[in-house]
Amino acid sequence: MSLEQTFIMIKPDGVARGLVGEVIKRFEQKGYYLRALKLKNVERELAEEHYVDLKSKPFYPGLVEYIVSGPVVAMVWEGKQSVVTGRKIIGATNPLQSEPGTVRGDFCIDVGRNLIHGSDAVESAKREIALWFPEGLSNNKPFLKWIYES
Ligand code: UDP
Ligand code: MG
Repeated sequence: MSLEQTFIMIKPDGVARGLVGEVIKRFEQKGYYLRALKLKNVERELAEEHYVDLKSKPFYPGLVEYIVSGPVVAMVWEGKQSVVTGRKIIGATNPLQSEPGTVRGDFCIDVGRNLIHGSDAVESAKREIALWFPEGLSNNKPFLKWIYES
């Protein structure tokens, strides 16, 4: 069984609106398990580094302001294909195009207030986890035989 890790972050709007439990519930009920979680006020350098690939985009300065505007919840979720499935749970970048049933489809409207981040590939997940959890991860392994056949 090959278990992936993905980096999921509830952005300041999601924390301020009291949607932390709702997001966690969706990952838990799917069968993924929580390897790390912290509530964090984000330093500007960390927000800039997290979104470094988008530096040339016109929305980048506003995006950095958004991420530093209040605490976020940074998490690592683990399980089979957690990166691609995590993106499906989250929904499309623009919440008006996100399907109902996804986090963004159900809880937000504007792309600049889209509530949640999820890694887009296994390699970016590795980079983001190292960036947000330089101290390393906890050792949470639930009873996997009730989630996976083998
Ligand atoms: N974003 C924005 N305006 C845009 C595109 C993106 O404000 O036109 C923000 C939005 O919060 C998005 C983030 O930049 O979640 C990162 O963009 P990306 O294309 O990586 O989308 P994601 O991977 O979050 O779906
Ligand atoms: Mg992205």
